Amino acid sequence: MNHSAAPSASGDRIAQIRASIPSSVRLIAVTKGFPAAAIRTAYAAGIRDFGENRIQEALDKQAELQDLSDITWHLIGHLQSNKATKAVESFDWIHSVDSLKLAERLDRLAAEQGRSPKVCLQVKLRPDPSKYGWSAETLLQDLPILNQLQHLKICGLMAIPPLNLDDAETLMVFQDTYQLGQSINQLNLNNLQIQELSMGMSADYPLAIQAGSTMIRLGRLLFGERT
Ligand SMILES: *Cc1c(COP(=O)(O)O)cnc(C)c1O
Repeated sequence: MNHSAAPSASGDRIAQIRASIPSSVRLIAVTKGFPAAAIRTAYAAGIRDFGENRIQEALDKQAELQDLSDITWHLIGHLQSNKATKAVESFDWIHSVDSLKLAERLDRLAAEQGRSPKVCLQVKLRPDPSKYGWSAETLLQDLPILNQLQHLKICGLMAIPPLNLDDAETLMVFQDTYQLGQSINQLNLNNLQIQELSMGMSADYPLAIQAGSTMIRLGRLLFGERT
C-alpha cells in the first residue's frame, strides 16, 4: 500500500470518478490551466475527451500530444470570431456556439476547410451578465437559419447555470434545458436534432445527470484547484 500523499491529478482517482458516472454519460476532462502532463495522466486512466477554453492554450497542448491520436478535442469557452478558423481546424466539438453570427461564420469556415464540427448551441436560460448564450425565445427565432447551416453538425445544447443558485434552482435550469431540447426536436427540423446536452461541472454534475445530461465537463474534481 502506498500511503504517500496523492498528487492532485492521480490516474487512480480519475478512473474512480469515471467509474462512478453512468457509462452513457460522456466525461469531458477540462484541462484549462493544467499542463499537457495532466492530459497524459487522464489519458492513461482511460479518458479520451478533453475540453479547453482558449484556442492558443489548446493548440500548444495539442502540439505536445500528437502521439495521442485518438483524443476528441472539445472547445468549451467563448470563441472570439477572429479565432474561429483555428477552432474549426483543431476541435472536433465546439460547445460554446453562442450567437447566430458565430454559427454562420463557423459554417462558412467549415465549408472552406472541408470539415464538419459537431456543435452545441449555448443557451442562457437565466439572467447572467457573465455568460453568453441564446435565450429560449431568441434561439427558437434563429432555428430556421441554424437549420440551414449544412457544414455544422448542430446536435446539442450547452448550459451553464448562474453560480449563485441553490441546488433546486440549478436542477431546474438543467431540466429547462432538457425541455428546450425536446421542444426543438418536436419541430422536426431536417438538419438540426438535439441529441446531446452538455451540462454539469464539478459543482453540479449530479444534478445535470439527473436532468438528462449526456456530456459533463469536469475540471477541478479530476485535477484539483486551478492556480
Ligand atoms: C472551467 C470550465 C468547466 C470545468 O469547471 P470545473 O468547476 O473545474 O469542473 C466546465 N465548463 C466550462 C465552460 C468551463 O469554463
